[in-house]
Amino acid sequence: MLLHGGHYTSLFQAGLIMFNMEFDADASLKKAYKAYIKQLDKWSADGTVPKLASQDMRFALELQRRHWERLGLKVEQDIRSPKAGSHEIPSVSYSDRIFVNHIVGTNKLLSTKISDQGGVIYDRTEKVGTSVVVQQLKKDTQPPSDMPISCPHCGAPATLCAIENGCPYCGTHFEMEDLFPKVTNAFFDVHEDADGKKSKRRLLILLISGVAIMLAICPFTAGALTFVSSVMLGLIFGFGAWVLSKFFGTLAMMGKDLRGGGKVFKSLKFRNKIRALDPEFSTEHFRDRAMNLFRMMAYGEDPTRYTACYCDLPDKWDTVVDAYFQNFGIDKYRIEGNECNVDLTLYMDCLIYKNGKIRNRSRKYRMELYKRIGDPTDLGFSVKAVSCPSCAGTFDAEQVRNCPFCGHEYDLSRHDWVVKRIS
Ligand SMILES: [Zn+2]
Ligand SMILES: [Zn+2]
Repeated sequence: MLLHGGHYTSLFQAGLIMFNMEFDADASLKKAYKAYIKQLDKWSADGTVPKLASQDMRFALELQRRHWERLGLKVEQDIRSPKAGSHEIPSVSYSDRIFVNHIVGTNKLLSTKISDQGGVIYDRTEKVGTSVVVQQLKKDTQPPSDMPISCPHCGAPATLCAIENGCPYCGTHFEMEDLFPKVTNAFFDVHEDADGKKSKRRLLILLISGVAIMLAICPFTAGALTFVSSVMLGLIFGFGAWVLSKFFGTLAMMGKDLRGGGKVFKSLKFRNKIRALDPEFSTEHFRDRAMNLFRMMAYGEDPTRYTACYCDLPDKWDTVVDAYFQNFGIDKYRIEGNECNVDLTLYMDCLIYKNGKIRNRSRKYRMELYKRIGDPTDLGFSVKAVSCPSCAGTFDAEQVRNCPFCGHEYDLSRHDWVVKRIS
């Protein structure tokens, strides 16, 4: 089976039922994927926020860019297709009543060059599995006209009906085709250095472990012939495993993919428990939300300004320049009535800035998320455009906790997960 990257493991972890091995993703999905990668490349070059990005993704990208500027870093990323061996990553879907989210991706070459005032401090090209979450309207569904949505042009909070009739703030008209599909998350899953250094090291490790395993299972008393043939067999198995790993590009990630593996049952149990309260709960959507909250905490200048943040960063906190999600797992959870507290661990591969240097590190970040489970999960929900439960006015609840029209306090935790703790 072709599995690229940690997030697929986490999908398995969560006991995802809808794992389909569709190598020929829908043409419109491919188109959205290609267009988004292009837009992301442009964002990296000149800061143009990707048009296809959902409002929450735009927000995260802008935060990250400002974060780099504050650190005095210039980050240049170039995403391109490898000359040979481009293949698709199997797609996965999850949906609610109105939207369906698909994960689509291929392998790419990602070059990252980071400079500070003194010059280039990091320069690396890696093979990555790049995938994005594309949100489409479900076939034959029409979202309600009062659905809150941000204007794709100016970002102002409005309703679908208003945006179609011309944004009340900037006047731009949008058709449904301009609003969807949207990209709600993106993953970069680092396979190895493009120069193959890791591949050689992996061959060595596999040969040694092949021999070690064979020697361990062969009885030493059996004589020199058995010893020699065990070594030979070990080498053959080790080499075979390496060939397979080259072919599938997955064994490289094995060690990493296993991170968080011990949390499978807890994650499954959590999903089943929460589904009893929210039948539309999706582990993938929960993961996307956790990642967005992480980005807000890691890249925001003062995260406590945001409504979704109920805590502060710990005193000792990495300066994360970029973070690539690998996996996540549930550590523990508590559901009392409709209040749900979840402790989870995000396993990330991070670029960390410390003492004027950039280091490539695997990191574990623990977060406690909280939500009052009420209405079923809404994949289209964004804090950037919410509807006031009291007066139905739409506003951006990212930094204001009260409706600007009627003053009613908006409780974000009734609609989405918020962060209570991070470490
Ligand atoms: Zn507008
Ligand atoms: Zn109101």
